[in-house]
Amino acid sequence: MPQTVERVAIVTGGARGIGAATALRLAQDGYHVAVLDLDERDCDETVHSVRDVDRRSVAIAADVSDEVSVTEAVERVTAELGPPAILINNAGVLHSSPLSLLSSGDWQRLIDVHLTGAFLMTRAVHSYMVEAGWGRIITLSSTAAVGDRSRLHYASAKAGLQGFTKALALELGPHGITVNCVAPGFTVTQMTRGVADGLGVAFDELAAERVKSIAVGRAGTPQDIAHAISFFADERSDFVSGQVLYVAGGPVV
Ligand code: NAD
Repeated sequence: MPQTVERVAIVTGGARGIGAATALRLAQDGYHVAVLDLDERDCDETVHSVRDVDRRSVAIAADVSDEVSVTEAVERVTAELGPPAILINNAGVLHSSPLSLLSSGDWQRLIDVHLTGAFLMTRAVHSYMVEAGWGRIITLSSTAAVGDRSRLHYASAKAGLQGFTKALALELGPHGITVNCVAPGFTVTQMTRGVADGLGVAFDELAAERVKSIAVGRAGTPQDIAHAISFFADERSDFVSGQVLYVAGGPVV
């Protein structure tokens, strides 16, 4: 459903996977989309997919965990596409290690990208939303938030983002800004392919094992997750804020 006002969205980690599917979905919904990722060239395919549906797009290299990089990126989005009205905090990395082998560096990197990245991006864009009296902030959590073996740092960051969402929803609600979380379960992307590589098993083997505990009997696709994000971004979702929606093919325990 096309939106009634021309608005600009930013999707972090938009070069591939859930971020790329989300950028395209938001373009189909009527938004112009800035695609942020570590390497500008990696964003080309997503940018073209947005332009193919007649929405404007720009590729921007940025590290969400770096304050200067984030400030410059948001300034560029504003100059090239217009003030951001929608932020999708999607950029992420995954790493597995038992506690005894988890280095401080690995812990910090996960926290920096997921938690600090969402904070820096949100701080950089929220003043444009406050000025407009309208905004949408949607952050990717995970089923890992309720516990994930050998991923203490990832689970902590993803659980932290749920608290971030609820606190931010209280603070920004009076400005017409809704803040929500989408928490995917096992979804087919480079991230989960990397898990199979790390375990030394074929991806199909890993997926078949994981699907056994998914009620609907299949793995998620990036489009499944983009669909939930699209719901929160919709103008008509004005009365939905501070929520966590698990998109996992079944209940999460
Ligand atoms: P992916 O690895 O396919 O894509 C992640 C993107 O983020 C990549 O393009 C990467 O370059 C980018 N990125 C990483 N660090 C960055 C940084 N510092 N600054 C900017 N960009 C950075 O992963 P995905 O599966 O599409 O995951 C997207 C989000 O969904 C992540 O936050 C992830 O934790 C979350 N998630 C994924 C799954 C899953 O099963 N795939 C499940 C739950 C949650």
